Amino acid sequence: MTLCNVKHSAGLWRSSTQNSTSTQKLEVRRRTRYNIGMHTYIISDLHLTPERPRITKAFFSFLRDQAPLADQLYIIGDLFEFWIGEDAAELLGAAPVLDAMKAISRVTDCFFMPGNRDFLVRESFTERTGFTVLDDESIIDFYGVKTLLLHGDSLCTDDVAHQHFRQTMMTNREFCDGFLALDVPSRIEQAKQARIQSAQHKSEVSMGIMDVTEQAVLDAFTKYGVSQMIHGHTHRQNTHHYNVEGNVANRYVLGDWAETNSVMRIDASGIEITNQAI
Ligand code: MN
Repeated sequence: MTLCNVKHSAGLWRSSTQNSTSTQKLEVRRRTRYNIGMHTYIISDLHLTPERPRITKAFFSFLRDQAPLADQLYIIGDLFEFWIGEDAAELLGAAPVLDAMKAISRVTDCFFMPGNRDFLVRESFTERTGFTVLDDESIIDFYGVKTLLLHGDSLCTDDVAHQHFRQTMMTNREFCDGFLALDVPSRIEQAKQARIQSAQHKSEVSMGIMDVTEQAVLDAFTKYGVSQMIHGHTHRQNTHHYNVEGNVANRYVLGDWAETNSVMRIDASGIEITNQAI
């Protein structure tokens, strides 16, 4: 099978409105048969920054060696340590990353879901990178299993300060538009301040609060009517099993990229997460 065939046999089919960010407009068809070798990769929380060139190098290796063999690639948030708009990418040293993303998008169907660090990714990101931008909390059919895909911070409901930030800034279009309208130096300055505050916040709240709230997980399974959920954000790679109204439900959590990477591979037989030394 050629790479071209793999690309077009992807499990998630896009409707004619390819640039749409609305999940409702994504047409998900249930497939009953899958070709052997078809698989999807999901990664998150690389927190790329010029300060950690080894992680960027590891990402490039992944894009070169592994991603071209997959029919789909999803990056589900916090790819960047912070993101303040494409026009600042050059200055922040992110241009080679965007170029590498564009290259992989030519052979693999690629999707990007913003996290709490890169929530300012906009639709124009698709043009620059070839990655279709997805809404946080999207429903995707992975080889016949309806799955809730999310960055994960929306599940951390015990972290009141973060939920306030989510409500008033992250998901506030007016705030985001205003911020992106500032000149690049002002945006960099404000982002630095936000990072300092975030670091302070992390050192002040308990580890438990930084994790998901179990009730929020159960509520999400019920709200979306799914038995499978995949997220990152907490950096706590694991698989959790739940009993939701008498049925088994699974929550898969990706780790971050630091000493090792964290790569989820999904195919028709299931899900596995592997870690390679960086
Ligand atoms: Mn995050």
